[in-house]
Amino acid sequence: MEVVTLGTGSPLPDPNRAGSAILVRAAGATFLVDCGRGVVMRLAAAGVLPPMLDRLLLTHLHSDHVADLNDVITTRWVMSPVELPLPVTGPPGTARVIERTLAMLADDVQYRRDHHADLGWSPSCETTEVEDGLVWERDGLRVLAAPTDHKPVHPTVGYRVEAEGKVVALAGDTVPCEGLDRLCAGADVYVQTVVRPDLVRAVPNARFNDILDYHSSCEDAGRTAARAGVDTLVLTHPVPPPAPDDEPEWIAQAAGEFSGDVVLAHDLWSITL
Ligand SMILES: [Zn+2]
Ligand SMILES: [Zn+2]
Repeated sequence: MEVVTLGTGSPLPDPNRAGSAILVRAAGATFLVDCGRGVVMRLAAAGVLPPMLDRLLLTHLHSDHVADLNDVITTRWVMSPVELPLPVTGPPGTARVIERTLAMLADDVQYRRDHHADLGWSPSCETTEVEDGLVWERDGLRVLAAPTDHKPVHPTVGYRVEAEGKVVALAGDTVPCEGLDRLCAGADVYVQTVVRPDLVRAVPNARFNDILDYHSSCEDAGRTAARAGVDTLVLTHPVPPPAPDDEPEWIAQAAGEFSGDVVLAHDLWSITL
């Protein structure tokens, strides 16, 4: 199994970090978890074009996790020689966002269909909404979902991928909770979006400080990893964006709670399990 941290950014623009997106390759399947800013460029860098995706999994519908959904849909559509609906799984509300995204694309779809005689179909998705349980099973690959806690954004989910005797947990934005513990139990790799409350509190901006009540800190992620007995904790989506010199501090905060390996991901890092 391979996990590629395609985009490790957050809503805050960062020239070096694309929006939230993770690629997982396992048991012959290729799927994408979230599709934030710049995802199609990062997929291309990883050697994956949108028609090659078996499924898109969404953790939640916050803009930094779905900003380039339209680009995934459009690029899959125009690059495929045959009609190829995009399978999408996400929390309740996903079907509505897909429907609105397709509606937003309607003018472009018409331009291209009018121009290309061989493009006899419009883009489409096969959407499944999930809150808990089995999402997808194929050739020894199992994808499970469990509820996470990102309130007031609700419902939200995380995913657990099991294949080839390995397990990866992909959390999305959440505070520690029972569903997250289930996703992470015994995982080889646990990927968690994080914020730094000490640095956020130092910024005298009420809107920025609001983010603290619905994200994991590095310490939270470390405690979840320790409780679940995971091997490697991957911190991603750091808020605020760290300067290179500050990165050891982020890792140290998590490592204070967890004795396994801790990394702070950059875009396009590949982790082989
Ligand atoms: Zn979020
Ligand atoms: Zn986020």
